Amino acid sequence: MNLPPHLTIRGDHLWIGEHDTTDLARTWGTPLYVTDQDRIAACYAAYRDALTAEYSRVRILYAAKANGNLAVLRTLAGLGAGADVFSSGELHLALSAGMPPGTLLFNGSSKSRSDLALAVEKKVPVSVDSLDELRQLDAVAALAGTTARIAFRVNPAIDVPTHPKIATGLATSKFGIAHNLIPSAYREALDCPHIDPVGIHCHIGSQILAVEPFARACEVMMRIVGEITDLGVGLEFVDLGGGLGIPYHRGDGERAPSPHDYARAVVPLFREGIREAGISPELWIEPGRSLVADSTILLAGVNSVKPAHRTFVNVDAGFNLLVRPAMYDSWHEVIAANKAGRDGTVLYTIAGPICETGDILAHDRMLPGLASGDLIAVLDAGAYGFAMSSQYNSRPRCPEVILNGGKAALMRRGEDIADLTRTMETPPWQEPGH
Ligand SMILES: *Cc1c(COP(=O)(O)O)cnc(C)c1O
Repeated sequence: MNLPPHLTIRGDHLWIGEHDTTDLARTWGTPLYVTDQDRIAACYAAYRDALTAEYSRVRILYAAKANGNLAVLRTLAGLGAGADVFSSGELHLALSAGMPPGTLLFNGSSKSRSDLALAVEKKVPVSVDSLDELRQLDAVAALAGTTARIAFRVNPAIDVPTHPKIATGLATSKFGIAHNLIPSAYREALDCPHIDPVGIHCHIGSQILAVEPFARACEVMMRIVGEITDLGVGLEFVDLGGGLGIPYHRGDGERAPSPHDYARAVVPLFREGIREAGISPELWIEPGRSLVADSTILLAGVNSVKPAHRTFVNVDAGFNLLVRPAMYDSWHEVIAANKAGRDGTVLYTIAGPICETGDILAHDRMLPGLASGDLIAVLDAGAYGFAMSSQYNSRPRCPEVILNGGKAALMRRGEDIADLTRTMETPPWQEPGH
């Protein structure tokens, strides 16, 4: 299996970094998310080195929605990352993690007035998704007696080879402004007294396993960069978005393009475009998944094994904690963490504890013979994993542990039963004695 370097099999056990997963499960219980901080740092460094080898003025904005834990954001902030934030909540988290406001970009196709006011107050640049939003932001900035720095989100009309739910740059997508309308949008922005157009932005989708779509999007963007520079826009940054995929099918030896492959395919086109336009803006990119996905595993305990039309392994984590298999038919590699040295001899379907037929983490996997009390590890769970978790079926969310060398600590405690009712209110007519 094509494992990332921080995952190793020693004897019969799966290790993450310097930690035996069976020790982690014994200490913290299951289910349990475990994140290797050093792996995130290595992924960030790979991007930074690959990009700066091609162009010196680069900023990496981590897509905070992939994993919004403050410990993850702090790790990346400490390395110099900014963030792509998609809500007021993510904006607050990124600032709390120590990221300077000018290194954030507030994205989103449906921002409220209060979102816009927060961006203006905190001086965070906004990726504007419509002319309606532009006019509202102009008014909000006027009220605050200031100017809002903006980019427009370009819809480059690029078809990408990924799951339809995560292709965001199609002509039919809800995101961005059609590329042919972008120059007139900048013309209007230049006329807005409280708007300062300083950037341009696109994001074509997620889990993309080829570099060509990024190169094509970059070409579309650079054509527009030339046009709007001629209109008088002084571009300070060109943000080409995120979306590089990771090799979830590790058992088949799947490969994903590296940050190096990405940089080699895209940055020369960017350099050519800005040379023709006669400008030298910063190059921004917004990776989420490829920075954090493989840093994290989800450990789940086996409750029972049931031979049926398939042999089900019933575990204590389901789509309440990892929704990707149910939502996108995603593949996550599964390892028997306490029997990892043994050959797969039995075909299993790994089922969660949720009251839904679709609560299957993995179909038809060859694993060593499993029994109640065994431990399984679901790999590549660091992006859109805990971040998309829920309390469905009134299951408190599990804890998240972060590792740093030989150290391990909670980065989020597990919820308990009291957390289930913490935000519930009793209507007065249901109060005892009413
Ligand atoms: C989700 C998102 C990203 C990150 O996508 P990944 O596939 O996780 O790299 C970047 N930019 C925007 C605007 C996004 O919505």
